[in-house]
Amino acid sequence: IWNIMEYTRPGRKEWVNIEECYHRILAEDLVATIDIPWFRRSPYDGYALVAGSTEGANSVHPVYLEVLGTIGAGDHPDIEIKPGQAVKIMTGAPVPEGANAVIMVELTKEIEKNGKTYVEIRRTLRDGENIVQVGEDIKKGEVLVTKGSVIHPGVMAALATFGYQRVPVMAKPKVAIIATGTELLEAGEPMKKGKIRNSNSHMLRGQVIRAGGEVVFYRLVKDEFAETVQAVKEALERTDLIITTGGVSVGDFDYIPQVYQRLGAKLLFNKVAMRPGSVTSSAVIDGKVLFGLSGNPSACYVGFELFARPYIKALLEQKNIYPKKIRAVLGKDFVKANPFTRFVRAKVRDVGGVREAEPLRKDKSNIVSSLIDANSFIVLPGGTRGFRKGCQVDVLLLGDEEGAPNWNATVASGWV
Ligand code: AMP
Ligand code: MG
Repeated sequence: IWNIMEYTRPGRKEWVNIEECYHRILAEDLVATIDIPWFRRSPYDGYALVAGSTEGANSVHPVYLEVLGTIGAGDHPDIEIKPGQAVKIMTGAPVPEGANAVIMVELTKEIEKNGKTYVEIRRTLRDGENIVQVGEDIKKGEVLVTKGSVIHPGVMAALATFGYQRVPVMAKPKVAIIATGTELLEAGEPMKKGKIRNSNSHMLRGQVIRAGGEVVFYRLVKDEFAETVQAVKEALERTDLIITTGGVSVGDFDYIPQVYQRLGAKLLFNKVAMRPGSVTSSAVIDGKVLFGLSGNPSACYVGFELFARPYIKALLEQKNIYPKKIRAVLGKDFVKANPFTRFVRAKVRDVGGVREAEPLRKDKSNIVSSLIDANSFIVLPGGTRGFRKGCQVDVLLLGDEEGAPNWNATVASGWV
């Protein structure tokens, strides 16, 4: 089987405090255990009363109801309202027995007479008017959020409503990033002749986090066989998937293919009919997937988004694991020929109500600058000779939008 997705496995579940659940993936369906609200509630500051007591009341003929007291939010006095009576009630407070309507305080006037308090009402209320009924918001038993959903602020509100101090979430897949290249310096090192700074590791770290994973193993190795084998071996013991960058091509010091061989990995593929990232490789060892991404920054970026990101999201058991596909108008000419499907780093934005995708900077695999503003890839099909500004194109959105399922078939089999 050459499909990476055949090598996913059920994710692990863990519990986190509700304070820490933002943007995690829910590991169980969230089912309403009670009606919300679970008692009749007032939506306004006003007076709770028996609707029948206001029969015939209007601006010329007011009615006067005796006010028994005040109920604040959080109170639950054991009283019953009878015809001719009312109780002052605050927003969120339980409507007492007998009452079946609430009038807003702004529409009333209080008066004192013979040591008693009355409320003057100049309109007729309906049975049930201004009362939040039991279960009006949420019915007990309703499935509110399904397993695999991203926990957003609204989901957090629902979790708190049903008493989840601890929230079941999918454990973040543990990811190894191994950068290969004798030319690489770390970000903090001074520049040296012939060297460049390792940008891919940090880019990948951001991509892993954005996909919902966590980097638990990181190594920078020289283009040396033994060192690379050792790093991958160690990573295998500690992670769910391994990403390498560089060394996957046919250069004299590109050792990744040999590393796969030495470790007895089963090669899934070592070329993809796409640009950039045609050298993207994948292998599997004991059910664990290795992603061999190009060292060229743009190619590495694209390889991650198209292959590693969906895999991480599959381990998180998310519903939509592929980038969301939309249609947009090409923002400027793209005149290069496309022997293979091309993924052009682009910025999608709204231009006067029209969604426009503009290719960014230079479209070459070794370019870093086009990644800075990229929020999408324009997908240009292979076997085409270029596209003019204004034509309709497919665009894959990056970021953490939920993906479109129809993308599945293409990634799984189209290019592999
Ligand atoms: P490779 O895939 O190892 O043949 O590398 C292709 C190109 O990408 C070379 O120019 C490398 O110097 C460059 N490169 C490789 N790894 C990195 C990295 N981690 N960060 C930035 N550039 C890299
Ligand atoms: Mg290299």
